[in-house]
Amino acid sequence: MKYDRVINFSAGPAMMPEPVLEEIRDEMMNYRGSGMCVMEMSHRSAVYQTIIDEAEADLRELMNIPDNYKVLFIQGGATLQFSMIPMNLMKNGKAVYVETGAWSKKAIAEAKKVGEVIVAASSKDKNYSYVPDCSDLDIPEDADYVYICENETIHGLTWNKLPNTKGHILVSDQSSMFLSRPCNVSDYGMIYAGVQKNVGPAGMVVVIIREDLIRDDLTDLPVYLQYKTHADNGSMYNTPNTWAIYCCGKVFKYLKSIGGLEAMNQKNIEKAKILYDFLDSSEMFTGTVAKEDRSLMNVPFVTESKELDAEVVAATKAAGMDNLKGHKSVGGLRASIYNAMPKEGVEALVEFLKKFEAEHK
Ligand SMILES: *Cc1c(COP(=O)(O)O)cnc(C)c1O
Repeated sequence: MKYDRVINFSAGPAMMPEPVLEEIRDEMMNYRGSGMCVMEMSHRSAVYQTIIDEAEADLRELMNIPDNYKVLFIQGGATLQFSMIPMNLMKNGKAVYVETGAWSKKAIAEAKKVGEVIVAASSKDKNYSYVPDCSDLDIPEDADYVYICENETIHGLTWNKLPNTKGHILVSDQSSMFLSRPCNVSDYGMIYAGVQKNVGPAGMVVVIIREDLIRDDLTDLPVYLQYKTHADNGSMYNTPNTWAIYCCGKVFKYLKSIGGLEAMNQKNIEKAKILYDFLDSSEMFTGTVAKEDRSLMNVPFVTESKELDAEVVAATKAAGMDNLKGHKSVGGLRASIYNAMPKEGVEALVEFLKKFEAEHK
């Protein structure tokens, strides 16, 4: 393989598209005649302003983001949003959460520090292996929002149908599925995504928020924690994560060049099918998630024992496939096959697992 790279199934930080890495390499020492690397550049310079403006414009085009939504680039990863969301969006001090795995659970724990949290549905009873029915949730009239994690990275499940919020605004953590498929932004009050899963380097979150949800009456809140601060200052109240914004901007352009989110979705469906078809036919490996809720991005699976799981992980690593060990809360293996994972990578994994199974019958 070119560059002697491994096939990297990391859940995050994760693979980047190779053409993007090559472009970044080519611009490393002298960005387009500026005489410096983007890392060395003032965020207040005209050349950097063009980088951030283009990143936002390309993202808006890719997702077809309506004009009444702000796009914000904020630091603190997705985790800081677990706190910023209730701090900014709880007007009545009450919100509804759906618990589908480790990441929604963390969001719930943080929101409880801010206000009343109603967990209206949960799949905890089956170790978060399915998305509960959310067509008729018990939502108090004065709840400020309904919160979901749209793709649970650790447990490997995804929402294929959004909950019925009964007129309340929907807030979604899309970290591990961001830009993997088309998304109708106006179905949501707010979407956010830590970018290191499916887009770029770690340390930044993209927030897409409807303008009327940005409040100016939160003057007691630390200034950095108010969405208004970031919205009023074009995501540059302080020094933003200039490097991450630059790299994400490149990925947005790359996605546009391959046909946008519809084309990306087709590739993702095709890729995931190769692995799921194998799991469904295998006698050694079993997927852990209900079929209709399976994630196209994170695919957890197990063998009959921890010992065999560990043996498979070691064997894949020796064969140049890295980061397949499952998260400790699910065990087994997990293949994260985000946008940047080529189909050939998934095919190589399946070939390997087939062979392993045949040899260990
Ligand atoms: C990784 C992840 C997070 C946390 O992201 P950080 O950038 O590490 O804070 C939150 N939600 C989901 C769904 C994730 O996959």
